[in-house]
Amino acid sequence: MASWSPSSWRALPKHQMAEWEDKALAEKVLTKLGKLPGLVQPKECDRLKALLAACGRGERFLVQGGDCAERFLDCEADRLEQQLKLILQMGMVVEHVSGKPALKICRIAGQYGKPRSKPTEVVEGKEIMSFKGDNINGFDPKDRKWDPERLLLGYWHSAATLNFLRGYATGGDHLPLRTLGLAELKGSEHYESYAEDARAIFEKTLSSDSLEFFTSHEAMQLDLEEALTRPVGGKYYNLSAHLVWIGDRTRQLNCAHVEYFRGIANPIGVKVGPSMKNDELKELVQLLNPNKEEGRVMLITRYGAGKAEAMLPGHIQAVKESQVPVTWQCDAVHGNGIVASNKLKTRMVKDILTEIFEVMAIHKRCGSILGGIHLEVSGQCDITEVLGGSMGLTEEMLLKNYETYCDPRMNYSQSLEAAFRVANEMPS
Ligand code: PEP
Ligand code: MN
Repeated sequence: MASWSPSSWRALPKHQMAEWEDKALAEKVLTKLGKLPGLVQPKECDRLKALLAACGRGERFLVQGGDCAERFLDCEADRLEQQLKLILQMGMVVEHVSGKPALKICRIAGQYGKPRSKPTEVVEGKEIMSFKGDNINGFDPKDRKWDPERLLLGYWHSAATLNFLRGYATGGDHLPLRTLGLAELKGSEHYESYAEDARAIFEKTLSSDSLEFFTSHEAMQLDLEEALTRPVGGKYYNLSAHLVWIGDRTRQLNCAHVEYFRGIANPIGVKVGPSMKNDELKELVQLLNPNKEEGRVMLITRYGAGKAEAMLPGHIQAVKESQVPVTWQCDAVHGNGIVASNKLKTRMVKDILTEIFEVMAIHKRCGSILGGIHLEVSGQCDITEVLGGSMGLTEEMLLKNYETYCDPRMNYSQSLEAAFRVANEMPS
């Protein structure tokens, strides 16, 4: 195996990364980023790896969620508090209902870079660059030029976000956190049982375990990730987040992203979509986890409702043959995108739940374990981006408060309901 360094990815074909026209400016920004302190601690990454190993063995259950594209403008105390509150509450629900401890990972404090299916898009008759996340360009059509100075803005926003959330978790007012908001779930046939669970959750004393959370993002822009990669005790850690993952569009063998990821000591995720071949997956896990470390690699399957049966058994078999331990996670959102009659990108709560239940059953049948779920969610109650749920969000309602810059997110009630539904189906 060729030697690895934080920059060895540079010699390989790159996908989805922004390139900087002003090279001198980009160099200046990356030099500064290379000196700024890491946002997380290596020991926290190691602890997450151990917890992910426990999820892989079925001793814990992972809830990972957050925005598709985090926005600089949402870096506000109330919004951040709502977002963390939702993920922690989803964890509490899983824990209370299933009896299994939960692990919580947020897509937060750095989820600012987006891969896109097309580099350009047509807006009001004009072809412009696609929005690639606040780290790269602005959502406003006038602001689509790739600008390296945004990488520094991304660092400051991540630092402010994480500083606030860590303070909130350790020293904040936790009364709202213990209070599940069920008002919109009254239409559910299970409402009484949710309400009873909510009362029991309220009565519990919050432990430090129930307040623990980790950060994550898709590491798409590798020059940025390289700048935050630091040598620690003979290894290299990406200190911009506890966990980083490889997107479904950048997981090609022998390309830049896989090269970068194989050398870092963090726990890592890889999205596994329907185009993944069995042999390719086998080679990939061996490349990313040659020492067969538990908790090191999480495979995040994202096939779409009704599609797992054709793909997952083969993928499970390929991983078994590789003899590499992995933690399996179900991303139940990215294979379930649809376009509403008013052209808005949306998803249906029922498809999201169907995919999770299908994947759960297949793992059970194939003798492997589903270690967690991955969802795009917003802690805001009034978001109208995903259809359905007991609150009955309809196509007509989508326009009311459709905020996302990228993929649609379940709102607070839809997400809490999903946590209840999943926890009730979990094997004990
Ligand atoms: C995402 O997680 O927002 C994403 C782009 O996912 P995928 O790489 O699975 O398409
Ligand atoms: Mn997304």
